[in-house]
Amino acid sequence: MLSNAGLVRNRRATPAGVTTRLRNARRGAASKEELAGAMPETQRFANGVELLQVSPWLENKKLKSWLWHGFSTRIGGVSGAYSAEDAPGDLNLGFTAADSREAVQRNRQLLAEAISGKSDTPIAALRQFHSNLVVVAEQGDISRQQPRKADGVISSVPGLLVAIQTADCIPVLVADRRQRIVAAFHAGWRGTVKRIVELGVGRMRLEFGCKPEDLVAAIGPGASQCCYAVGEELLSEFESQFSYARELFREVFDSDSVRTKYPMLFLTQRAPGHSPIGPQLHLDLIEANRRQLLDAGVKTSAISATGGCTNCHPELFFSHRVSRGHAGRMMSVIGIKPKR
Ligand SMILES: [Zn+2]
Repeated sequence: MLSNAGLVRNRRATPAGVTTRLRNARRGAASKEELAGAMPETQRFANGVELLQVSPWLENKKLKSWLWHGFSTRIGGVSGAYSAEDAPGDLNLGFTAADSREAVQRNRQLLAEAISGKSDTPIAALRQFHSNLVVVAEQGDISRQQPRKADGVISSVPGLLVAIQTADCIPVLVADRRQRIVAAFHAGWRGTVKRIVELGVGRMRLEFGCKPEDLVAAIGPGASQCCYAVGEELLSEFESQFSYARELFREVFDSDSVRTKYPMLFLTQRAPGHSPIGPQLHLDLIEANRRQLLDAGVKTSAISATGGCTNCHPELFFSHRVSRGHAGRMMSVIGIKPKR
């Protein structure tokens, strides 16, 4: 049985039950190419910064009149720490060890300028730690030097951009169309298991009386299901929290060429993720966070996703995974324009 060669080796490493449950949930293995989305369209600003913006938000005149928002790419900055010497500068927005503080500060000014028209518009970042802690922005955050420790922020402060930093994790922006309240959440797999987005929307209701039907939400670029291979322990983690957990996972082959070359692999009933050329379990964090928005009461039609896999497009995005930890940070920002 050539098709089973090497597949029995790691069978005991699988916790009992997980494989069976996954097999029941299987929609069939997919190839990476099947799941990969197109390269998203960016908006290029006068200062060279390129951002992803949410089309329905730009097209809604009322929303556009008071709302600032954008998901950064790596394009349009002055950092040299993450690219070849002769390459144009990167828009690294995180104070990382490899980059200079001056470059990051300049990049943040460029981002503020692209979004608000003014380079001195304050950006309040967070000290993120993969939690579900959500803070409410205060007037004092405009001049605060040290970022607050949290993974989500809700703001009613005009003239302030609140920000989430990512380099594969999923950023989620939310706005209350009626009350002019905004929020940004950092949802890696840990924050997602801890329901940061679902809890965050709950907090918007609690603190500001936001009604879910008034909310619009946008899920930004991150490691998408095409590339986000995870260990089987994550399936257990998600199954312990979400009734729909199995819908978030799929077995994925690295390449269509594998399918062509080894068609027998697609006919076997064996544990996933145990062969170097076999399928790996992939997690769909974008769908996971869409489900949390829905569970929090946000309407399906009010949820947008920019698309853009950070792993598929390293020329456009920073990716922690692709660069094996040596990555800059992108920012997802949202804010309320000040009254003139
Ligand atoms: Zn991808």
